[in-house]
Amino acid sequence: MKYVFGPVSSKRLGHSLGVDLLPPKSCTWNCLYCQLGRSKNFVTERQEFFPREEILAEIQEALSLGTPIDWITFVGSGETLLYKGIGWLIGEVKKLTTTPVAIITNGSLLYMPEVRLELLQADAVLPSLNAGSEALHEKIGRPATGLSFSRHLEGLQAFRKEYRGRLWIELMLLGGINDSDEALRDLAAVIRGINPDMVHLVLPTRPAPEQEVHLPTEERIERAIAILSEVATVLDPVKGTMSLRNSPDLLEAVTAIASRHPVQQRELLKAVQECFPGDVAKASTLMDEMLATGRFTVVDHAGEPWWVVRNDSAGQEPETG
Ligand code: SF4
Repeated sequence: MKYVFGPVSSKRLGHSLGVDLLPPKSCTWNCLYCQLGRSKNFVTERQEFFPREEILAEIQEALSLGTPIDWITFVGSGETLLYKGIGWLIGEVKKLTTTPVAIITNGSLLYMPEVRLELLQADAVLPSLNAGSEALHEKIGRPATGLSFSRHLEGLQAFRKEYRGRLWIELMLLGGINDSDEALRDLAAVIRGINPDMVHLVLPTRPAPEQEVHLPTEERIERAIAILSEVATVLDPVKGTMSLRNSPDLLEAVTAIASRHPVQQRELLKAVQECFPGDVAKASTLMDEMLATGRFTVVDHAGEPWWVVRNDSAGQEPETG
């Protein structure tokens, strides 16, 4: 197949069927950590690089094989939202299947209202945010002219206001570059302003051609989780689970998460257990106590119990993932 690949397994999206919408490498940024190598020329103009019907036909063919998949993920050999017509594709895919659709993007074009509009039907959007200052944004992303840090933030904030699906910020933690306390505090401040559903910390574990890219130390990863958890739910980059370790009030933290989207009980229990290493009984007791508050209701979906906040979501069927 030319556009569709996988399903590939990932900690974050389970079995994901990938759809690549771009010719390599078409990007608005030139990230230090890019696995595709340096951007020789920036691409900033949105285009329908390949006929949308051809891409849709391939997705349809892949779905007809019946392989179990958790997500259909639009991603690109570059910046996914450069594909003009992605909104049409999302809409057509949703007519074909109930499998949720995720979009992986650097987010640099979200300042454009028409781009944001195209994404409204997606179930999850995962834009990048690697810096909390203009200087670091330039250093890490090395974006095309005009795609400044302030424009990036403007796009993310506007999108959050309009988008009802899951907004998962993807933050690449680079050793010695954006893992200092100062850089992390700057990031926490802007993340607070965006108010995403979750922050996915990711690490440069795959080879990148640039010399400057290093894995952060374990101590820095822990510090990043601690600082960012003050403003958002953070997905641990090593364990692939959400982290509640630094939440000052577990009940409030879980309420905040479950009011945005249903939380799988299994995943929640794992996160609570991590707060009390070696004390399994404590985690179970706390789960029971949280349920006893009456704030949540547990619903069954595909044989799995999910927590939803009673006022907002009782009786609704949760999405998968
Ligand atoms: S946004 Fe993605 S594709 Fe573009 S340069 Fe950065 S890592 Fe590479």
